[in-house]
Amino acid sequence: FHSKLNNVAVSIFTEMSMLANQHGAINLSQGFPEFDTPELLKSTVNEFIASGKNQYAPSIGTPELLAQVEQLIHRQYAMPLNPGQSVTITSGATEALWCAIQTLVTSGDEVIVFDPAYDSYEPAVALAGGRCIHIPMLAPDYKIDWQQVEEVITNKTKAIIINSPHNPTGTLLTEQDMQTVEKLVWENDLYLISDEVYEFITFDGRQHESVLRFPKLFERSLVVSSFGKTFHCTGWKLGYCTAPPELTDEFRKIHQYVTFASFTPAQLGIAKMLQQEPSHITELAGFYQSKRDCLVNALQDSRFKLLNSQGTYFLLVDYSEISQKSDRDFCHWLTKEKGVAAIPLSPFYENQTSDKIVRLCFAKNENTLLNAAEKLCQL
Ligand code: PMP
Ligand code: GLN
Repeated sequence: FHSKLNNVAVSIFTEMSMLANQHGAINLSQGFPEFDTPELLKSTVNEFIASGKNQYAPSIGTPELLAQVEQLIHRQYAMPLNPGQSVTITSGATEALWCAIQTLVTSGDEVIVFDPAYDSYEPAVALAGGRCIHIPMLAPDYKIDWQQVEEVITNKTKAIIINSPHNPTGTLLTEQDMQTVEKLVWENDLYLISDEVYEFITFDGRQHESVLRFPKLFERSLVVSSFGKTFHCTGWKLGYCTAPPELTDEFRKIHQYVTFASFTPAQLGIAKMLQQEPSHITELAGFYQSKRDCLVNALQDSRFKLLNSQGTYFLLVDYSEISQKSDRDFCHWLTKEKGVAAIPLSPFYENQTSDKIVRLCFAKNENTLLNAAEKLCQL
C-alpha cells in the first residue's frame, strides 16, 4: 500500500492535548476557548433545532447567513461584493482551505508557504498534486522576506498562502506587505489564499490588513474565515470563503462534493447573532487583549523571554534560559513533569528549527492563566 501522506503523523494539536489530558496538565496547547459560546447563540441554535431546522442547508450556505456575512464584510472592510456570488459557507476554515487549494492547485504546481506554517496547508497541497515551497520567517519578528519570495517564483508557481493574524507567532502583516504581495501576484500571474481566521483578534489598536481592504488583490484571492474563533464555538466547525465570482464558482463546485453543506441550525443561529449582537465582534479584540495582558503580566518574573503577540490568542515564549531540550522534548517534559501543556513550533517548519520557542494559548479563564503562570514562574 502506497501512502499518499508518507510524512504525516497525528497532528501536534492532538498529540499535546492527549498528553495534557493523560497527565492532568493545564492545557495551553491546542487552540480553543475554555469559556462557552455566547448565551444568545446557544439559545437560538437550540431553538432552531427544536423547531425542526434540521435538514440540509443550501450548499452555498443559508440565505440568512450569507446576507449577514456580506454586511459584516462591508462594515468591516468596506469591500463591495457581488451579492450571492462571493461568499460560501463551509464546515470550518479547514474545509475552506481544502477547497481553496483544490480550486487552484493542479499536478506539478508549486505553492509558496511561510514557516512556521499552519499544519493543514502542506497535506492539502500535496493531495492536490502540488508541492509547497517553504520560506522561513525568523524569530523574533517573523517578517516575510519578499525578496526571497521573488527569488523562488518559477513558471510552476501557482499560489501563495498567507496567514495574518498569524498562528502560531501572533504577528500581523502590514499594509506594505499587502501592497508587495499584490504586486507579486499580478506580475507573476499567481493567486493568493489568505487565511484570516483570527481577523477580529488584533491588539493595541492595530488594524487587521485583510485582503478585503485591497480590491485589486482580492480579484486574485480566496479569503478564509472561521466562526469558531469569532464566536467561541470551534467544535461547530463553521467558516466561510470569500472570493470574486469566477473563483467562487469553482470553489463551490468542489465544496459541493466535499461536504455539500454545513450544519443548518448553527448557520441560522450565527445569522441571528450577527444581526442582534454585532457588538460581540467589535468587543472581541479587547476581550482577548486583556487575556494576553493577564498572561504576559503573570509571566513577567519568570525566566521565559516573551515575544510580542500582536493578534490571535497565542503567545510565544523563549525557554532558552530554562532548558536546552528540543522544543518537542521541552513540551513533553513541561506537560508531564510541570503540569502545563504548550505547543512546540518545529512541526510547523519544513527544516528543523533549533529555536527554543513554544506557543501558549491564552483563550482561557483568568484563573487558568494565573495557575499556569504560577507553575511556569517556578522553572
Ligand atoms: N487556520 C488557522 C491559522 C487556524 O489556527 C485554524 C484553527 N486552529 C484553522 C485554520 C482552522 O479553523 P477551523 O477550526 O474553523 O477549521
Ligand atoms: N487551530 C488550532 C490550533 O492552532 C487547532 C486546530 C486543530 O486541532 N486541528 O491550536
